[in-house]
Amino acid sequence: MRQRNPRNPLSSSTFLYTILALLAISILTWLFITNDKQEYYTKTDYLLGTYVTVRVSGDKTSPVLLANAAFKEIKRIDEKYGNNKGIVEELNASKGKWIEMDQETAFLLKSAIEVSKNTGGAFDFTLYPIIKLWGFDDINNEKRVPKKTEIGKALLKVNYENVEISPDGNKVRLLNGAQIDLSGIAKGYAVDMAIMKIKSIDEKATGFIDAGGDIGIIGPKYGNRPWVIGIRHPRSESADKVIDYVYMYDGSIATSGDYERFFEVDGIRYHHIFDPATGYPANNGVISSTVIHKSAMLADAYATAAFVLGDSPGVTFFPRYGALAFLVREDLSTFKNKGFEVYLSK
Ligand code: ADP
Ligand code: MG
Repeated sequence: MRQRNPRNPLSSSTFLYTILALLAISILTWLFITNDKQEYYTKTDYLLGTYVTVRVSGDKTSPVLLANAAFKEIKRIDEKYGNNKGIVEELNASKGKWIEMDQETAFLLKSAIEVSKNTGGAFDFTLYPIIKLWGFDDINNEKRVPKKTEIGKALLKVNYENVEISPDGNKVRLLNGAQIDLSGIAKGYAVDMAIMKIKSIDEKATGFIDAGGDIGIIGPKYGNRPWVIGIRHPRSESADKVIDYVYMYDGSIATSGDYERFFEVDGIRYHHIFDPATGYPANNGVISSTVIHKSAMLADAYATAAFVLGDSPGVTFFPRYGALAFLVREDLSTFKNKGFEVYLSK
């Protein structure tokens, strides 16, 4: 009689299969959980006169909650610093009187003055009288080419030195008929603030915020990979065609282009970035300018300045202020500040 128990080999293989199955299940569960953590939530909304996209993943918080907090913050800044509303409207109607301001406004105005100074006035947030004249102060306004005399008259009011901040930093006044427009810096500021908001809720959140070409990195993709950002081809019908790619783990990048807002008369393109020296759209052969900076606010403002300055000697001094520029000229040739190339590869 055979003494061998036939069930023994069977039960040991069942055991083995059970172990393997459990192992597979736990691996899959683990993958599912970690994947779930790295899942990105994307939301787009129209704010600050442009499409704003927030792409975010939380470490310990729902990405939906983080995105909503970011949008709430961007909306707050839009309402506070947009044209024809809030403090901007109040100041522009103040006729030179001192106006009380909070610390946030003082910070934004001081930052705008600093970029204006550093760029020799190529960035000038007192261009409002010129911008209004051409109809670029509001997306719904009719655009037109003003008469030379009108431009000359409006230009007399343009000078960032006409913005005086009281020594205690609590008040501001506009001298010599100056009026301000923060469109060249507020979008970037909103991106910085929205990222700060997200980080205050979930320090290890990752993703990015794109406010119409002003992009701030919340954190690297999946915690360790760069976000690949395409710099738009300035003469392509499609917004998806790219002239170059940059790889960003942190910091910010902003692009200004003559294709964003413009109108044409007799085949001449009149766009929304003005040369404060002439009162006409900047016209030095540059059709797109991109700036990388730690701060989205400063990337935004320096990109606008770069468009006005061009490349010779233009933006060659930008790295002194932590800004790296990439310019595209009419013939699609490019100029890059030394150091920019670091971002062109992973
Ligand atoms: P966009 O991302 O829409 O191209 P920018 O950041 O380049 O915007 O800013 C352009 C806006 O800033 C214009 O619509 C105008 O309101 C204002 N602006 C135009 N020229 C200048 C300038 N030289 N300095 C500061 N602000 C400017
Ligand atoms: Mg800008």
